[in-house]
Amino acid sequence: MSFRWKIILGVTAIQAALLVILIWNGLNILKHSSEDALLKRTDTTARLFASTAQAAVLATDIAALESFVDEVLSNPDIVYARVLSKQGVLAEKGEKQKLTQKFVADTSLASADHDGVFDAYADIVVAGEKYGRVEIGFSTSAIQQLISETRAKSFGFGMLNLALVGLFSLALGYYLTLGLNALQQGAKQIAGGDLGYRIDVYGKDELAQTALAFNDMSAKLKHLDGERAKKEEEILRLNQTLERRVIDRTTQLQIVNKQLEHQAMHDALTRLPNRALFHDRLHTALSSARRSQELFALVAMDMDMFKEINDTLGHHAGDLVLQHVANACNKVLRDSDTVARMGGDEFAILLPKVTDMERAVQVAQRVLMAIREPLQIDGHMIEADASIGIAMFPQHGEDELALITHSDAAMYEAKRQKLGVMVYLPEMGEGKSEAIALKGELRRAINEGEMVLHFQPKIDIGTRSVIGVEALVRWQHPRLGLLYPDSFIELAEMSGHIKPLTQEVLRLAMKQIREWGDQGLVLPIAVNISAVNLQDKGFPDTVASLIAEHEVPSHLLELEVTETAIMNDPITAIENTRRLSRLGVQMSIDDFGTGYSSMAYLQKLMVAKIKIDKSFVIDMGGNENDEVIVRSTIELAHNLGLHAVAEGVENQATWDKLREMGCDSAQGYLMSKPLPAEKFMDWVQSSPWCGLPPADARKVVS
Ligand code: C2E
Ligand code: CA
Ligand code: CA
Repeated sequence: MSFRWKIILGVTAIQAALLVILIWNGLNILKHSSEDALLKRTDTTARLFASTAQAAVLATDIAALESFVDEVLSNPDIVYARVLSKQGVLAEKGEKQKLTQKFVADTSLASADHDGVFDAYADIVVAGEKYGRVEIGFSTSAIQQLISETRAKSFGFGMLNLALVGLFSLALGYYLTLGLNALQQGAKQIAGGDLGYRIDVYGKDELAQTALAFNDMSAKLKHLDGERAKKEEEILRLNQTLERRVIDRTTQLQIVNKQLEHQAMHDALTRLPNRALFHDRLHTALSSARRSQELFALVAMDMDMFKEINDTLGHHAGDLVLQHVANACNKVLRDSDTVARMGGDEFAILLPKVTDMERAVQVAQRVLMAIREPLQIDGHMIEADASIGIAMFPQHGEDELALITHSDAAMYEAKRQKLGVMVYLPEMGEGKSEAIALKGELRRAINEGEMVLHFQPKIDIGTRSVIGVEALVRWQHPRLGLLYPDSFIELAEMSGHIKPLTQEVLRLAMKQIREWGDQGLVLPIAVNISAVNLQDKGFPDTVASLIAEHEVPSHLLELEVTETAIMNDPITAIENTRRLSRLGVQMSIDDFGTGYSSMAYLQKLMVAKIKIDKSFVIDMGGNENDEVIVRSTIELAHNLGLHAVAEGVENQATWDKLREMGCDSAQGYLMSKPLPAEKFMDWVQSSPWCGLPPADARKVVS
């Protein structure tokens, strides 16, 4: 039930209760006053009647009594009247029914109620003696009517009153709850989101105060809501900024990732795919070729003389050549082909659409032609060149390893035979692939001290005493054991490792000179140097700084160079041999007779010795030709004022012959095979060839 109805019904109920009490009291009062008036009136009327009738009773004057009775009955309220003497009724008149009833005096209105007549009497007393009495009956209907009229009026009045009170309380309730309703409405508005909703306030009562407080609260809520909305907006804005930043970052990261991925898979210099990507492509090509049972070609390519370009013209030139090669390949090859830089000056080409060998060779030749197109770098015209090996799937290999090793072996063979392009042949065998594996290991081997020197004595034929040793390098390979120079010097020369290798040999030789010197053995050591070293303008300086570093007398170092090495670039060779001679280093021409040499150059070279190649010496006894060559070489040497050394002296007959020919010194298995340093020391101490002259004297000799 609403508060308003509680007020209305409450007020109405209270009013109704009050009215009931009021009316009930009023009616009671009315009843009592009517009763009193009735009692007085009946008493007075009865007495008056008794005193009037007194004489007639005493006289028993019936007629007079009857007229008195008629007079009394003329009062309209009196229902009957009777006069009695001690003997009985003297006169009576009135309503027959009442006159026949036994007289019982009434004392209250209530006792008269049962018949509607109030019965009263008065005694007729004379001088204290009772002579009779009068009895009268008063009708109570007038009083009863008054009372019932009054009750009806009161009820009507009460109803009217109640109606008014109802109306009034309705108005009051409405008025009182007006404010409450407004508050309720306000609360609903706020609950519905209408923050800042205001209630119209009239007056200053408690409700008005509450409404003002409500308005305050509402305003504050609206303010707070505004702040919250602002904050939300700000957060939204921040979120959007953040989101944008995250997106930006992600995009940047994606770009960087792509770049990194590209970098990881490509060579920075040539922009070609690198080894990793190439292996990936090869793997894919293999899988799809296996599925479709199609052929494809794998091409290995290695630059020729790249090291020389790098050394003579600098790394910048080397880089330009590599880029030129990349461009040449891209120009000739199709989009479906992959050309990759595998490292250094090695390239590999995958021809997935080339299904026959002839086509593969044609493509390779076109690549070579493009590479060979002259290139101008810093004013120099350069003609780059390369060697190419081809392996076909599945003919030459059914997996990646076989295809790679076989294309490499073919390339290696092409390089060796200077053929440009070669297709793999089974007879190229695994030996070459072993060589290729070794090539990859060379640098590590040099750095990790796997190179060792063996020493072979040179004996003066006249004195039969040791006048020096030749240092011959060996590779103490961790897996393959002791490797001889034949299996890796050519590799080192081709792969550009010959410079560090020569440097290592020189270092070891100088170390040995010092060690032997410390043990009282003073012997010159001859080191073999390759064409690359002789063509390197920085080589004399390298030698000079090594000599200085090891504090070794320069005349104890000899260098052996081949004719071919000199003839490659005689100008630089002559310049270098001169600079080395000026350092005090002795130079010999090695393997004399196997290559072409010009007398003109020979004279210009500052060499001290000529070593006659062992191929002529070994068989000298049984081959007249060889003997002629050896003899004329010794003569030539002597004519030029040079020392003649014969190598490959394997027997006494050869020794004797050489002595007879006037050869100055000899080297060969007859005297000793090349020996490790400590064995060589044993040999020195025990060998009959070791009539070593005293150190001091020999110094003067050399
Ligand atoms: P080489 O300079 O002509 O060296 C002499 C070679 O003949 C050595 O072979 C030696 O062991 C061998 N030899 C010596 N006496 C006899 C003999 O009586 N009979 C026969 N059959 N052979 C004899 P090795 O040590 O295998 O060296 C082979 C070649 O490797 C050398 O030929 C030289 O050209 C090259 N080489 C050796 N060490 C070095 C080095 O440190 N640097 C460079 N660049 N090349 C080296
Ligand atoms: Ca030699
Ligand atoms: Ca030789």
